[in-house]
Amino acid sequence: MSDPFFHPVSGFDLPRFAGIPTFMRLPHVDLDNPKLKDVQIGIIGTPWDSGTTNRPGPRHGPRQLRDMSTMIRAQNGATGIRPFELVNCADLGDVAPNPVGLEDSMRRITAFYDRVIDAGVVPLSAGGDHLCSLPILRSIGKAGPVGMIHFDSHTDLFNSYFGGTLYTHGTPFRRAIEEELLDPKRVVQIGIRGTTYDNEDRDFANSVGVRVIAIEEFHKRGVEDVMAEAKEIVGDKETYVSYDIDFVDPAFAPGTGTPEVGGPNSFQALQVARLLDGVNIVGADLVEVSPPFDASGATAFLGVSIMFEMLCNMAQGISPEQ
Ligand code: MN
Ligand code: MN
Repeated sequence: MSDPFFHPVSGFDLPRFAGIPTFMRLPHVDLDNPKLKDVQIGIIGTPWDSGTTNRPGPRHGPRQLRDMSTMIRAQNGATGIRPFELVNCADLGDVAPNPVGLEDSMRRITAFYDRVIDAGVVPLSAGGDHLCSLPILRSIGKAGPVGMIHFDSHTDLFNSYFGGTLYTHGTPFRRAIEEELLDPKRVVQIGIRGTTYDNEDRDFANSVGVRVIAIEEFHKRGVEDVMAEAKEIVGDKETYVSYDIDFVDPAFAPGTGTPEVGGPNSFQALQVARLLDGVNIVGADLVEVSPPFDASGATAFLGVSIMFEMLCNMAQGISPEQ
């Protein structure tokens, strides 16, 4: 049973549309708060999108995701899991990026996560663009390479853009494999689609043993079969989960910079996250929600709903009651 200090504000004490929005109405515990040592899962915003190559905006993601997360209630309607009663969860606030300094921002993100990991907290992050995952993995993968289940339209395994720029939201996992933060043989990418410049990313995936499940295979086999294979690939060792909202069809998630048509619907988007049960999750992120392209807020709401599904499985994995 978790410490009641870490329970979300109930909608019966303060209506869900009222109050200062923290992630899922949890207490805000910054890194200098002595309560940090009691936190088991920390939700963190990384409001940074300097790796974006096309339509920007995910720097505004954490604030909009926090706002829409006030819609989330305490119990998972499908599984009955009540994550906030299983483990101590808190909103750890935002990393402060340097909006005009790419490498400085990455250093700042890694330094923030080093403190989180040292405190024994499992991070659930809200982007930001997908380059945020690299400095996060520099902290999580420090003790040795981890596996990864990656939902995305894109592999993000390209080498460089514009003739030699190595750090963009299209390259984080190429760098993470080179830096031995990820074990490529325990990496699976699901939902890949769209037009491309060339096959450089796929050739790299094949050469190092990353399993790419393209959208055609995903739709043909179905969610359960694909997720069973994904779990087999990562096994029971430490695994990171990275979820780019552009995995979802733009009919359901239009608020993102690089949408690709022909993707999963919102039900399937939740289902893949729900089927992460039993995975040894050492960190997870939800990235690429871009509020300027999300006029209705539906993309951010789907994003936090996916985060809640991931949180339920993370809580279930950590709780000693399981
Ligand atoms: Mn991505
Ligand atoms: Mn993508």
